Amino acid sequence: MTSAESVSEPDCLFCKIVAGQLPADMVVSTDRVVAFRDIDPKAPVHVLVVPRDHHGDVSVLASSDPALLSEMVAVADRVAGELADGQYRMIFNSGPRAGQSVFHVHGHVLAGASLGWSPA
Ligand code: 5GP
Repeated sequence: MTSAESVSEPDCLFCKIVAGQLPADMVVSTDRVVAFRDIDPKAPVHVLVVPRDHHGDVSVLASSDPALLSEMVAVADRVAGELADGQYRMIFNSGPRAGQSVFHVHGHVLAGASLGWSPA
């Protein structure tokens, strides 16, 4: 595989959004990362930051491509600056018991309000 080829999974919801096969409200797009609004927002600004290539879990990505994870945080920062006041919470759900339902790495960016702290 050359570096120009992308990595995707045919049955992955976020791979389909990245490929433009399903609609999404895109807010940021870079060579390696996209950010689009969550379909079921939990805050005034709720954006998902997603690598274009398919990676299943954030802990694996942290080892395999830390620069990509760093770019995702930079995109989160940009989203919060463009759509809110620059203050935000970024959440990675890792595993079903943590609430992960889509197994393509994504960071939730929550902003636009004073956020509570009650995950359980
Ligand atoms: P997870 O539960 O895996 O951490 O987060 C998955 C997120 O994807 C959820 O917040 C859910 O609302 C969002 N989501 C699920 N299906 C779609 C969709 O088709 N479009 C968008 N934009 N978000 C979705």
